[in-house]
This record gives sequence, C-alpha cells and structure tokens, in this order.
Amino acid sequence: MTTASIPDTLTAWHEHMRAQFPQIKSSPHAYLDSSATSQKPQAVLDAVAHYLTTTNANAGRGSYPWANRTTAMIESTRDQVKCFLHDPDPGLSSVHFTSGATESLRRIATDWLVDTLRDGDEIIVPAADHRANVVPWTDVAADLRRRGTQVVVRSMPYEPSGDYDPVKLAELITPRTRFIAATHVHHVYGVDMNVHRIRAAAGNDVVICLDAAQSVGHLDVSVAELDVDFVAFAGHKAMALPGVGVLWARNLRTTPLVVKGWSGTPNTVGIASLSAALTWLTEAGLDRIDSWTQMLGAVLTDGLSQMRSYDVLGCQSSLTLDSTVQRRQGIVAFRHRGIPAGDLGFILERSGYLVRADHHCQASPEADTPSVRVSTHAYTSIDEITGLLGALQELDKEKQ
Ligand code: PLP
Repeated sequence: MTTASIPDTLTAWHEHMRAQFPQIKSSPHAYLDSSATSQKPQAVLDAVAHYLTTTNANAGRGSYPWANRTTAMIESTRDQVKCFLHDPDPGLSSVHFTSGATESLRRIATDWLVDTLRDGDEIIVPAADHRANVVPWTDVAADLRRRGTQVVVRSMPYEPSGDYDPVKLAELITPRTRFIAATHVHHVYGVDMNVHRIRAAAGNDVVICLDAAQSVGHLDVSVAELDVDFVAFAGHKAMALPGVGVLWARNLRTTPLVVKGWSGTPNTVGIASLSAALTWLTEAGLDRIDSWTQMLGAVLTDGLSQMRSYDVLGCQSSLTLDSTVQRRQGIVAFRHRGIPAGDLGFILERSGYLVRADHHCQASPEADTPSVRVSTHAYTSIDEITGLLGALQELDKEKQ
C-alpha cells in the first residue's frame, strides 16, 4: 500500500472528519491510541451540552417534561442501537445499557450463562483475546465447578493469520456445546475475525456472543449477517462518553436474558452521547471509516515490514495476508528487537506519538512480552502514520 494510491475523495472525506475533533485539532501530538478510547467529535460534545442544559432529569421516575423526555430519549436510543446493528427482529431483542464492554460481557456471564449451563455442558472461549472476553466465562465454569457442576471449557482454535479457524472449530463442536464467545476485531492484531464463519461451523443451537468493542464505530456491524445472539460494546470507543456500554441480546435461541438488579439511575448523559455518536458515525459513513483505517493499518504494516528491527504481531506483514478473506483494521502491534516496548513507547511519546506500550489486557501468553500498539480512527491522518514510520526508521538505523 502506498500513500500515492489513496483516492482524493477519501482524503477529502478524512480532512472533513478530522476537522470535527477539537482535541485532535488543538494538540501537537499524534493520538494513536484509539483502541483504548476514541476522541469525541464536536457533534457529541454539543449533544452532551444540549442534554445537560435543556433536558437533564432522572429517567422513569418523574412525570414532568424533562423526566419524560429523558425516558423517551433512552427508549429511542435502544431502538437506534437495534437499527445501527441491523437487528432483523427488533421486537424480540433487547438492549441493556451498561458501563462498557467489560460490564456487558460480565452481565451475560452472571445474569444468563451461569443459569443456563448444566453438568457436562461445553463452552468455547477465545483464550488469546482481551481478558474481558475470557475471564467472565472461565469464572462461570469455576463457580459452577465449586457447586458440583462440571462444565468443559475449550479454547477457540486460531489460524496462523490470527483469525479463528472454522475447520478446527467445527471439530470441537459436540451435542453438548452450548456457548461460544468470539471477538469481532482483535484488539492487538487488528484482525477482522471473520466471525460470520462461526455460525456455519457451530450449527444453529449454539449461542454465540460477540465482543464488538473494536468493531463498532469502525465497520458496519450487522447482527443479521453475523448471526450472533449477544453483542457487547463500549460507547467510549465509538465516539461517545466513557461510562456507557451496550449489551444487545437476541433472545431467540435462549430464554430471554433477565437482567438482574438493574434498577437505579441510568447513565442518562452517557446514553445521550451514545445516541449522538451513533448518528455521527452513520453520517460519517462506516464504509469510509473502515476503508480509511484499513489503509492506515496497511501503510504502517508495510512500512514496518521493510525495517529489520521490527516484528509485527499476529502476522509477518499485511502482504502475506489474502486480502479477499483476511482484513486487518487500523490496529497494528509490534516489537523492536532491541528496545523494550516500554522504552520505545516513551521515545515515541517524546517525539509526539501517543501509543500504547504494554500487554494490552490480552489473555494469551504471547502478551507476556509487552508490545507497542498503534490504533487509528477516522481522524488519524496519513501524515501521522508516515511521521511515525520516520521516527521508527531512525531507531531501526541506530540498531543496524
Ligand atoms: N473487549 C475488547 C476487544 C477491548 O479491546 C476492550 C477494551 O480495550 C474491552 C473488551 C473492554 O472494554 P471497556 O474497557 O470499555 O469495558
């Protein structure tokens, strides 16, 4: 991928997007940590100010206009989430607001999975993914074991590219397989996990839970196409405020998710920000965000593959991937062969590049050695990526 091959229309679109992010516009730094949290567009900031200055009240309690409008805003945001996720049966499904992806996944475990599993049942867990999508399921199995119910926990098989292996997955499925947890876009490797292949491998009776923390806001997530039963994501990674997350439940293959103990004041302003964020993302065009960040990831991966000191995690180079089946989003993690990741992160920060350098909350042993992760969004410029490559090149030369 060369920067010369980027269509002018895409570049013009990106410039229009970037101009809408006040923190990006006013900062001398290149923010390259969007997988941790996204920056917020002016439209979301305005919606937050508007809600707090015209409508703020508690929901589902008072009968005066502000309270009614807040309750209606929450209900309409539920409908908006279903529409955003291309829910084919909005009358059957439910949307629960949580504090983030971690809480959504944990709620599925504690409010549904634990009551569903029986002695001898099996679940499949993506052991090399974010801990938020591993620990809740293994905790449920451990909890049940303590109570005398044995649940078999199997590890999701991976292909060398970092994607899940649907052939090996099909071999793992037995009549006792009840539940599979999967991740849509890997938070370290940036691999789009082709989760549409899981249903065919698993069959119709298995419940599939999708951690969409790194895909919502970056690509068009369709529960109809992916044929999954649960989706979890965080508002703050998709342009909304921190403290609001979504748990979407299809309630089709399973008894409905009965969410326990959820009375109390919801995060009304967070939900208002989520509504504005989903509107903003739809208007910005998820297909263009997807194209832009994939292009940034490809430029970075190709640039790194030409330097001798760096190893890109998850695959050797985007050039080795079959791009017709294997897409890599704008998340790239790498290690320098001579400089520890923490030091490299510090050097990059001093040069103006804000990256993440640690284990990235990954559950797998590969994460035992920290790495530097660069993650992008619609506002990330190509100059930031080529500038970063220049800084990395300097460190490459020094080590030759
Ligand atoms: N799942 C994935 C794949 C993530 O990348 C993250 C956060 O980085 C989470 C879950 C947890 O999200 P949150 O911190 O919003 O709960």
